[in-house]
Amino acid sequence: MPTKKTTSAPDPELAAEETVSAAEPVKKTTRRRTAKKAEDTPVAETAKPKRARKTADKSAEGGETPAKKPARRTSKKAQKEPAERKKVAFIGSECYPFIKTGGLGDVMYALPQALIKQNCEVRVLVPRYKCIPQKWQERMIYRGSFDMDLCSDGRRYYVGIMEYIWDGVVYDFIDNDEFFSTGNPYTNLVDDIPKYCYFAKATLAALNYMDWIPDVIHCHDWQAALVPVYLRTLFNGTPVGAAKTMLTIHNLRFQGCYNVPTLRYWSGLPEWVFNKDMLRQGYDDANMFKGGLAFADMITTVSATYAQEIQTPFYGENLDAHLRKHADKLRGIVNGIDVNIWNPAADALLAANYDASNAVEQKKANKRALQERLGLEQNTDKMVLGLISRLTDQKGLDLVNDIIPALLDGNTQVVILGTGDAEYENSFREYDAANKGAFCAYIAYDEGLAHQIYAGSDALLVPSLFEPCGLTQLIAMRYGTLPVVRETGGLKDTVEPYNQFTNEGNGFTFNRYEAWLLLDAINRAKTLYFTERERWDEMVVRDMRKDVSWENSAVQYNGLYLELMKL
Ligand code: ADP
Repeated sequence: MPTKKTTSAPDPELAAEETVSAAEPVKKTTRRRTAKKAEDTPVAETAKPKRARKTADKSAEGGETPAKKPARRTSKKAQKEPAERKKVAFIGSECYPFIKTGGLGDVMYALPQALIKQNCEVRVLVPRYKCIPQKWQERMIYRGSFDMDLCSDGRRYYVGIMEYIWDGVVYDFIDNDEFFSTGNPYTNLVDDIPKYCYFAKATLAALNYMDWIPDVIHCHDWQAALVPVYLRTLFNGTPVGAAKTMLTIHNLRFQGCYNVPTLRYWSGLPEWVFNKDMLRQGYDDANMFKGGLAFADMITTVSATYAQEIQTPFYGENLDAHLRKHADKLRGIVNGIDVNIWNPAADALLAANYDASNAVEQKKANKRALQERLGLEQNTDKMVLGLISRLTDQKGLDLVNDIIPALLDGNTQVVILGTGDAEYENSFREYDAANKGAFCAYIAYDEGLAHQIYAGSDALLVPSLFEPCGLTQLIAMRYGTLPVVRETGGLKDTVEPYNQFTNEGNGFTFNRYEAWLLLDAINRAKTLYFTERERWDEMVVRDMRKDVSWENSAVQYNGLYLELMKL
């Protein structure tokens, strides 16, 4: 790594650029000049902390960036407060509402919001993808930039930091057109491996650059898994090296696995981390997730059951032995949902708002509106089964596919919203064409329609092969729509099966991954719906009153952060 010099003299041009908005693209010449200046700025493993601070302080002046260390200028009492607050950096590849492809995006938004209430100061670092809608891009403020060496041959890349402060959370978008200009966050591993090597290293360099040193760096999934590896290697001894790391597994299926020479080149990591206990997988490959799991101070996953399951060969995605080895630092905490966004009483996308007191009546209005929108027979006596999902093998869609003819009995309607594998898209489209009025396959990603399906359906199907946590069953319960789930991962931990003897429970469940067991669970739901509506309605109310918020989980994460800080 080349050593960089530090600057102590403020640069008026650089300070002026700090206020450039994303709407006014920074001209190439400006960038080059900025980068050149920033070459003299300490950013990575060679940073000299004291002078780095000076430069970073300067860069925050005048902009709408967070005022740094205000306590130094205030009273003794006020000085004490920030010191007691935990500083947590969230690092992940997506974050609602800027960019979301699945549950990870929801978590990256909602958990920081909940942590603020637990006396945490949270900064979220995500890529500045070009596909982030213009409305958000325009609100970002230029926070600074520098040059960073990345590859094993010392190749250097521009790192820009665009910042947006919203609802008490600071969002820092890592900016680099070469890596983040595709129309979708994820494309293929050939592009994604370099992209997320760059991202992981750039986030740590950015934290040093901003002189914002977190107590805990909370990394999410394989795209951020190299963060703990960089932290304990190339960033050891730099200011950010003092932080502890937590790596959360949202889905173990995706791991960032590629051949060793490519990963060694792009990551620039030292040879010794490519051994079988760290990054190496099998003979030829290196696995970013595996490396992160080895180096993280704590591993969490999004439900207690999934934490157990991934230590077995069936769910372990070839990392079960590695996870068993690290089991002492593995914990499971179930996700919540943002109950303000998912709130049937105030959801502007619904035909009729409702709460637990009037759900039974008002859900009918939503059902009628849904039937009308999707071209289904408009009859609120029909039972509507919804399914909102990525259409992939993980989600149990082969089971659904097998039983559709058995579901369409004249009293039942089925609504599927999702995109994904062609085999499912096509099969559902065929069922749609053959069963107009009773079956609708809406092959798209449509946030608004998702809300309307949650509100207008009677039950929601989540028959996943594996499900780390699952959000759709939580949202369904919040909307008084009863979940039908397979007993796996977070589905098992969040849906208590209905007990006809005690009249307790939140939904209908089945255990083995077999189509007839899914059908049996749906039939149990149908029987209750059509023959004991009062009991069904009681369950609707019970589900709507169930606490599915982040509060509980945030308290548990907060406890783990404290544990980490004592290490
Ligand atoms: P995963 O992260 O595995 O895709 P989760 O259940 O954790 O599954 O989260 C899925 C999230 O994405 C939920 O918020 C769900 O409402 C949303 N979602 C999934 N598919 C669609 C779609 N086609 N249109 C709108 N929202 C969708």
